[in-house]
Amino acid sequence: MSRLCPSMSPVCVPRTLRLLRQLFPGLPAAMQRLYSLDVSAPLLRTQGYVDGRWVSAASVFPVLDPATGQEIARVSDCGPAEAKQAVDAAFKAFQSWKQRSAKERSVLLRRWFDLMTNHKEELARLITFECGKPLQESLSEVAYSASFLEWFSEEARRVYGDIVPSPNKDRKILLLKQPVGVSSIITPWNFPSAMITRKVGAALAAGCTVVVKPAEDTPLSALALAELAEQAGIPAGVFNVVPCSREKTPSVGEVLCTDPLVAIVSFTGSTATGKVLLRMAADTVKKASMELGGHAPFIVFDSADIDVAVRGAMASKFRNSGQTCVCSNRFLVQSGIHDRFVEQLGRAMDAELRLGHGSEPGTTQGPLINSRAAEKVVQQVSDAVSRGAKVLKGGKRLDGSFMEPTLLADVTTDMLCTKEETFGPLLPVIRFNTEEEALAIANASNVGLAGYCYSQDVSQIWRVMEALETGIVGINEGLLSTPEASFGGVKESGLGREGSKYGIDDYLDVKYVCFGGLKP
Ligand code: ADP
Repeated sequence: MSRLCPSMSPVCVPRTLRLLRQLFPGLPAAMQRLYSLDVSAPLLRTQGYVDGRWVSAASVFPVLDPATGQEIARVSDCGPAEAKQAVDAAFKAFQSWKQRSAKERSVLLRRWFDLMTNHKEELARLITFECGKPLQESLSEVAYSASFLEWFSEEARRVYGDIVPSPNKDRKILLLKQPVGVSSIITPWNFPSAMITRKVGAALAAGCTVVVKPAEDTPLSALALAELAEQAGIPAGVFNVVPCSREKTPSVGEVLCTDPLVAIVSFTGSTATGKVLLRMAADTVKKASMELGGHAPFIVFDSADIDVAVRGAMASKFRNSGQTCVCSNRFLVQSGIHDRFVEQLGRAMDAELRLGHGSEPGTTQGPLINSRAAEKVVQQVSDAVSRGAKVLKGGKRLDGSFMEPTLLADVTTDMLCTKEETFGPLLPVIRFNTEEEALAIANASNVGLAGYCYSQDVSQIWRVMEALETGIVGINEGLLSTPEASFGGVKESGLGREGSKYGIDDYLDVKYVCFGGLKP
């Protein structure tokens, strides 16, 4: 085992110690080694991975532990040249990968899944150290991430075309499904592993090859996946990773979204960035798969089972400290149950939420990804308070990018937190009276990814489920994601669906073959 952090910079040492003391008063200095990333060498990769080779770039960029600000690695800062090499390698590899039988591709994906499962602890530590989430959640992410390789290893063998009844006796109509080609995969930091496999599993199963650009905050999980892909026997050029800094991102993004050899751009991230990528991809009319921002309503009706609703609210809101695109952003609670719900929720927050370093046992709330993210939550809280909201829990930013889990009551629809995605541990509660009012508030958004409804009135559930303008609906359930079900939004939340039997469609073209001249 090698410890990754020999090079803690002098600047971050005082800040790290101050933060550790604040979070864990009384922690002996010797215990601070607890926060070193211990991952065995093969999984700790810091170069780009292009055409089956580990490649260095002219410079490196730092990866920081968001909980302490400590540098945990220096990673090759790939630029447009490396991105172009990766696209060319993927294009070359596509010519043979698409010729492999579906079963061969399936076997390789399954091997990759097995390797992820065998290395789950190390992969989880990488996630915790580069993105900040508690280790338990990182382990869940690894299982979730690997499940897409398993799912698509199975789906690879079920890419059926059609034989369609023809109107002419001398013709047969065949609809063949074929892989689209090189896929550019651009992913966010909040699920550094799963957002890659959810796309790459589908792409490779279909017969496509990929170039992955991971988020600048979290390249280590992507590079560990490359190491395991190689061990699994995925051929050179099929899976490429070009990590890069924030500064290099636009030029690398330009190659990935405009190169004529790229057939599809698949992106998960903010709506604003998604629009930039879509515009770039338009010039060469690429396919696009976009999983963008959400602003999920969480509606609790008077008939709801209050224990179930509180449990769902806690799970949906506070997973990854509120940094998921399906997490509830606006809590709409009917007048008859409002006060009891808010009180019980406050008690659950006190009892269940523990701030700390993600590797510390018992931590449920890690830091936000960076101080910009924490600042956004602070701004939403102060805007809400200035317009009359009441802070029932939390409300303050702590050192670094830690933010207190915050409960706001008396929230109204003119407040910033009800108009834009928070991506942090802020739980704003709006009181409503009628179902129509709740639906009007829930649907008054230009995005629609997930929505949640808590009720025991079956007719009401059906009405609300159909009326919610979202791609995903949770009824009496706050955690929904699974590879068997489709994931994706409506409106400006994106294009296409990931996971499920539909997730492979974006990576396939349908070719109509008219087989004519047949003699009866
Ligand atoms: P955030 O602001 O939280 O980082 P983004 O949506 O901007 O959210 O980032 C998600 C992913 O999109 C990251 O991998 C980021 O590097 C990438 N990204 C951002 N801007 C561009 C761009 N111009 N071209 C390509 N990728 C981009």
